[in-house]
Amino acid sequence: MAAIRASQLGMKVAIVEKESLGGICLNWGCIPTKALLKSAQVFDYLNHAKDYGIEVADVNANFSEVIQRSRNVAEGMSKGVQFLMKKNNIEVIYGYGKVLPGRRVEVTQNEGGIKILKANNVILATGGRAKQLFSLPIDGNKIIDYRKAMSLESTTENYGDCWCRRDRCGVCILLSNLRNTSYLDRIYGYYLAS
Ligand SMILES: Cc1cc2nc3c(=O)[nH]c(=O)nc-3n(C[C@H](O)[C@H](O)[C@H](O)COP(=O)(O)OP(=O)(O)OC[C@H]3O[C@@H](n4cnc5c(N)ncnc54)[C@H](O)[C@@H]3O)c2cc1C
Repeated sequence: MAAIRASQLGMKVAIVEKESLGGICLNWGCIPTKALLKSAQVFDYLNHAKDYGIEVADVNANFSEVIQRSRNVAEGMSKGVQFLMKKNNIEVIYGYGKVLPGRRVEVTQNEGGIKILKANNVILATGGRAKQLFSLPIDGNKIIDYRKAMSLESTTENYGDCWCRRDRCGVCILLSNLRNTSYLDRIYGYYLAS
């Protein structure tokens, strides 16, 4: 939004992005989670279709297709942001940005090579990262981060989720029966200690 507004105000604007336009919210957070929730809602409706006077036989959820739909929704919206950048004459440079002295930004481009940009104004909007609880490191198995959660290949019966609300960006999902592990104690321990 800031880039579009700056462009509308007549400035020459470039965005440096190391991954996908739209950031975490669009690609891995708000949007894909809501797409998953929509699938869950449809599944729930179908399971209760009889309550609405409709008979539906054999309701099955295909987990990988649910995940795929969520990924497609995110990808489609990211393409929408790409379109908006083009429409507003904003140059998008894919790569890792580093602010240098003298109002310069060094970009290590994803396609290779270094580019130095010079600007009167630089807006830093680098977002957040998944935060690990000190007692529960993300191991990609029992403790996973939001990216893995949004692209799981299968689900398990027992899982819970845990949001680190303090910084609004960390989420871990515990893929095990919470009641039979000491995880909850360790999470409470984290909150007490932090
Ligand atoms: C699973 C999940 C669900 C969520 N659901 C919601 C929700 O329903 N509602 C809500 O309000 N919030 C939600 N959030 C939080 C929301 O995603 C964040 O608050 C929001 O994305 C923060 O936006 P931002 O623009 O500050 O940063 P980000 O979205 O993190 O964007 C920062 C961008 O900067 C890029 N970047 C970072 N460093 C560099 C660098 N050095 N060089 C180049 N590029 C760089 C990153 O690749 C990223 O694209 C959720 C988060 C998660 C993880």
